Amino acid sequence: MPVATPVDGTVQDFTKRTHRLLIDGAWVEPAEGGTFVTRNPATEEELSSVALAGSGDVDRAVAAARRAFDDDHGWRTISGAERSKIVWRIGELIEQHADELALLESLDNGKPVDLARTIDMVFAGDLFRYMAGWSTKLEGDTIALSSFPRPGQAHAYTVREPVGVVAQIIPWNFPLLMASWKVAPALACGCTVILKPAEQTPLTALRMAELIQEAGVPDGVFNILTGEGETGAALVAHPLVDKVAFTGSTEVGKSIVRAAAGNLKRVTLELGGKSASVVYDDADLETAIPNAANAVFANIGECCTAASRLYIQRSIYDEVVAGVSEVARTIKIGVGTDPESEMGPLISSEQLERVSGFIEAGRSDGAELVTGGSRIGDTGYFIEPTVFTKTSPEMSIEREEIFGPVVSAIPFDSFEEVVERANDTHYGLAAGVFTHDLKRAHQTASLLRAGTVWINTYNHNDPALPFGGYKQSGWGREMGHEVLDAYLQTKAVCAVL
Ligand code: ADP
Repeated sequence: MPVATPVDGTVQDFTKRTHRLLIDGAWVEPAEGGTFVTRNPATEEELSSVALAGSGDVDRAVAAARRAFDDDHGWRTISGAERSKIVWRIGELIEQHADELALLESLDNGKPVDLARTIDMVFAGDLFRYMAGWSTKLEGDTIALSSFPRPGQAHAYTVREPVGVVAQIIPWNFPLLMASWKVAPALACGCTVILKPAEQTPLTALRMAELIQEAGVPDGVFNILTGEGETGAALVAHPLVDKVAFTGSTEVGKSIVRAAAGNLKRVTLELGGKSASVVYDDADLETAIPNAANAVFANIGECCTAASRLYIQRSIYDEVVAGVSEVARTIKIGVGTDPESEMGPLISSEQLERVSGFIEAGRSDGAELVTGGSRIGDTGYFIEPTVFTKTSPEMSIEREEIFGPVVSAIPFDSFEEVVERANDTHYGLAAGVFTHDLKRAHQTASLLRAGTVWINTYNHNDPALPFGGYKQSGWGREMGHEVLDAYLQTKAVCAVL
């Protein structure tokens, strides 16, 4: 692997700092003094030392968020116009610092700096601005009561109020973007927040916390606790937290549902996936092949939407497999800070082991390896994009979420067959359909049990488009106006005159 290009001084200074916890507007040492390190997944070198929040810190942060919410002059009481300005300003600050944030993300997560700059950072800034618009539009309804048929007998209306103190727990694949998906709507709705970034990638969230302070968010409204799974678990169990928003594995998602039962917290979950893309024989292959490849290889497959099952109509099967394999072979893999890199390393040695394990299982189950399959080098967690054929539905590579650049290419004959096979999973996050036949495109979209269906594209997300899972891929939606339901509750007011 090439050596990383030199890193900008501001970013280097940031990584060298001792990272503390943001509680009630102050950067504080963890009560128990614990720390953990983050590593650059391209070099395996230590990048930063970060505070490990314990249960005492969780208590402090929750108390601060509680006060900032409950106070008579708290965040929820600030006018929508004022909240909107502050949330908008966060978006602007992210945009102004996008180069620096992208470099930091690349060092911490491994992804190519150019992709972090043009995708993650742009989307994060846009998302804050989109959500800022909603702060002034959180309206209820007037309700015509069925029990009082004559006008003037009663007056009833609904008010939309923020849910309260929100714990937000996020993963390592799109660190700043996942933080933005969660923090922006919560602040826009008037909730107060405790954010727990993933232990592998806390750095951009920590930098974002400084920008949130700079934007003028009052003390205690936004708090950040870095730590491991235990920190997240303590937040989920805390009796003074009103809601948990979680993105991560389905297994941890289920444990969160159980742990939230104590005070019946509201819970939204964005969990795993085993998405399918479907290429029909009339598709424009010049578009379909790169999109189907990107659907699984984007972000080195570390996407909950990764389309790791690629269904191809039999008459074009060989051509599409050859095309996707060619993409796999020609992706430029390298250190994320090298501007030439198109794909970085996996996040960690654990993830490298996990993905390698799936590849090994595919081989020993009898699938045919068309390309890829091996680790690259012995430093950094690099792996080749991998294409399997001759897989079958009982093989783990066709059933389980891999979270790596590994795809099973599966032939199909009919519309009915592909819909049935694509739906044969307990996940339901996303799907892709490639065809020029309008009727078939929308019929397929209507029958696929997934929260998002892309037609002749893939992974096209937008702040206005709701995102979330069917089946075991999650509860609730992020983004769009639907996310407001996650952070607001409805009060009905009924007066008999
Ligand atoms: P992955 O296996 O991909 O790392 P996880 O679901 O384990 O995904 O982690 C996603 C986020 O959830 C991280 O921020 C992690 O620290 C946190 N986490 C892990 N275990 C728990 C738990 N039991 N309760 C709450 N948060 C947790």
